[in-house]
Amino acid sequence: MPKIDLIALRRDAREHASQNKYYRQYIKEALPLSNDDLDAEVAALADLAFEKIDCLDCGNCCRRKEIAVTAKDIRRIARGLGVKTEYFVRRYVAESKTGEAYIKGEPCPFLGSDNACSIYADRPQACRAFPYLHERKVRARTLTMLENVGECPIVADVWGRLARKYPEPPKSS
Ligand code: SF4
Ligand code: SF4
Repeated sequence: MPKIDLIALRRDAREHASQNKYYRQYIKEALPLSNDDLDAEVAALADLAFEKIDCLDCGNCCRRKEIAVTAKDIRRIARGLGVKTEYFVRRYVAESKTGEAYIKGEPCPFLGSDNACSIYADRPQACRAFPYLHERKVRARTLTMLENVGECPIVADVWGRLARKYPEPPKSS
């Protein structure tokens, strides 16, 4: 079970929805950082957030997200579990309407009651990358970031730090 108060996180995101929407626009259009500098800034803020927030106290992404798996992920995880790839696919993989493979089930079948991942060393690339704060092109992915403000405490922390460090200037009347 999560130790982090996810209900409060969602409520806070709802209450600040309009403000966050405008801040997203500001990041996209006016924040005075180049794309590379914004990527570096967000990655540095994410490092601070990961120091403060323990994913084992949360586990929300493993409970609520559809986890995409590539053929390489499938081979690696099946090997780690000591099962045949075909068996793994039959047992754990489904196909979305757009033809993408993902791990069946919410919560993820590999999530333990202590929020630990039972296939951590072999987990899918999508799990390693989430919440995508160390990926490039942050400016093009602000919608995903905004959508995760109410779902991922790390994203909420980074969003808050960014907004405090680079506040939107007051609108002139
Ligand atoms: S990445 Fe975010 S949503 Fe996932 S467990 Fe960590 S804090 Fe929670
Ligand atoms: S594979 Fe592991 S890290 Fe990925 S969603 Fe499942 S429990 Fe979470």
